[in-house]
Amino acid sequence: MKADLHPEYHQATVTCHCGNTFTVGSTIPEIRVEICSKCHPFYTGQQKAARADGRIEKFNKKYAAKSAAKSEKN
Ligand SMILES: [Zn+2]
Repeated sequence: MKADLHPEYHQATVTCHCGNTFTVGSTIPEIRVEICSKCHPFYTGQQKAARADGRIEKFNKKYAAKSAAKSEKN
């Protein structure tokens, strides 16, 4: 390796917001993350966050009310 060129390589300690810690190889000695494989819904299988309505859901809601009102008239 060329001298004074390569960054220092550490066994970095990754600290998650949920309290989980693990080590990875990195040029930074300490890493803080907000989500990891211990607390991410994909790995835990728990769906925590309420899903925001998409455009299609909004459209269906909007026109379901209108078509119901129309069918009552006819
Ligand atoms: Zn976590």
